This record gives sequence, C-alpha cells and structure tokens, in this order.
Amino acid sequence: MPGTVAGIESDPAAAVAISFDAVGKRYGGNDSGAVIALDDIDLRVRRGEFVAVVGPSGCGKSTLLRLAAGLEQPSSGTVAVQSDSVGFIFQDATLLPWRKVLRNVELCAELRGIGRTARRARATRTLAAVGLADFADKLPGQLSGGMRMRVSLARALALEPEIMLLDEPFGALDEITRLGMQEELLRLYRDNAFTALFITHSVSEAVFLASRVVVMSARPGRIHRVIDIDLPTPRTRDLRFDPAFTALAARVSASLKEAS
Ligand code: ADP
Repeated sequence: MPGTVAGIESDPAAAVAISFDAVGKRYGGNDSGAVIALDDIDLRVRRGEFVAVVGPSGCGKSTLLRLAAGLEQPSSGTVAVQSDSVGFIFQDATLLPWRKVLRNVELCAELRGIGRTARRARATRTLAAVGLADFADKLPGQLSGGMRMRVSLARALALEPEIMLLDEPFGALDEITRLGMQEELLRLYRDNAFTALFITHSVSEAVFLASRVVVMSARPGRIHRVIDIDLPTPRTRDLRFDPAFTALAARVSASLKEAS
C-alpha cells in the first residue's frame, strides 16, 4: 500500500540505501514442507541511518541480511542496495588463524583487488581506529573474543564501506565487552558515516544503537512494527539508565511479546 512502506513515511525525500519491496523468501518447494522465511517485507533504510532488527529466532532476520548482502535472491519482490561498497560482520569474527592481525585486516581489501600499499595503509588506519595498533603482529589466537571482533570490524572498515551489514556481531561476547563494543561501533559509525543494518536478539542493544528498531514476527517472518528511537546522540553509556531509554526498551519488548 503506498505510503506505508516502513521508513519512508516520515521523510520521503531522503536517499534510500537499502530497500525491500514486497519481499518474500521461501525455502523448499511449493509443497507443505516449504518454509516461508519472509513474507511481504517492505522496508527502506535511508542513507546514513542505523536500523536494528529484532525478533524471535527463526523470524527471518539473517535471511533479511543475506538478501541485502546479495548472498541470496528473494523468491518474490525486490531488494535494492544503492551501493556496491558493502561490509559484512558476522557473529563469529571469522579470522584466518595463521595470518597475523594486520594481514587479516587486509584480507577483504586484498580480495577486492586493492593494491598492497593502499590496503596496508587502510588496514593500519582501521586497526588503530579499533584500538589495536599494538596487536598488528599477533595471531588471532592470542587475542580475546572482544579483540577478535574488533579485528573483524577493522577488516570490514578497511573496505571503506558505505553500507555495513551486521548479523549479531556481539552475540557471543560477555556482557561487559558487549557494552564496550556497542559504544565502539557507534563511534566508528559516527566517524565513518556508513549506513547500518544490524541484527540482534537484544532489545537494549537495539535501542542503544539504532535510530529505528524493526520488530519482526515469526512464521512467516513479517515486520510487526517499526519503532523510532528518538534518543539524543552521541549516545553515551549513561543513556542506558535514562528513563527515556528504559521507556523505549519497554516499548520494543512489548512489541516483541505481541509478535512472538
Ligand atoms: P533468524 O535469523 O531470525 O533466526 P533465519 O533467517 O535464520 O531466522 O531463518 C528463517 C527461517 O528460514 C527459519 O525457519 C529457518 O529454519 C529457515 N531457513 C533459513 N535458511 C534456510 C535454508 N538455507 N534452507 C531452509 N530453510 C532455511
């Protein structure tokens, strides 16, 4: 229905970085064994926006991200990504254990065909940006889980992406490290001005990071509600104790409950 696409009602003129138009994704055949992972997804992510997606397991969050990444094609509808400069961050840091940290950070730029001098310079800069300049010559096995995830962030940033797709990147980290990584990610987001689509299971993480939270429901995966997070920026750790933050987290939680 015109005018109801999530994300364009309030600002129709804004540039769109990622759009899902009437997107459906089905796994398997047309028989009763088929899984409808996504149904009738309409969502526009504006350039420079930070959108978080929450929902119960199996509601299609990862499928949504894989579609945006072009790793899969929709069964119906259209997915459009207005840039070929896209970085991915997964739950696992996926570093090559035999390559030193700096060489891991260079990897995506290397695969992209960026010359040695340029990619070394970028990798050195982004490794410093995530606070790991002193660990360039270490192997991944010598780092903590949080540090490995920062290497993964540096590797994606070395591509200087306009769009960052993040699939529960902090899900495996302990709570303290996770909170620190959220603040670090927001700082990198501010400094690098990318568009972010971020999948998470955590309501507080979604509210802390995003300017909009998409709440999905399962079976089939649909958008249940989109909630604007009109909290001040830059966001600091104290925000988590602010009544406005608590109220928004409660709204998102209530929506999730309706959707489950
Ligand atoms: P979420 O990330 O929200 O947990 P997913 O996107 O991983 O959800 O999965 C959505 C639904 O699609 C689930 O029912 C899942 O089992 C199914 N699914 C995902 N990928 C595949 C696949 N490659 N083949 C078959 N079914 C899949």
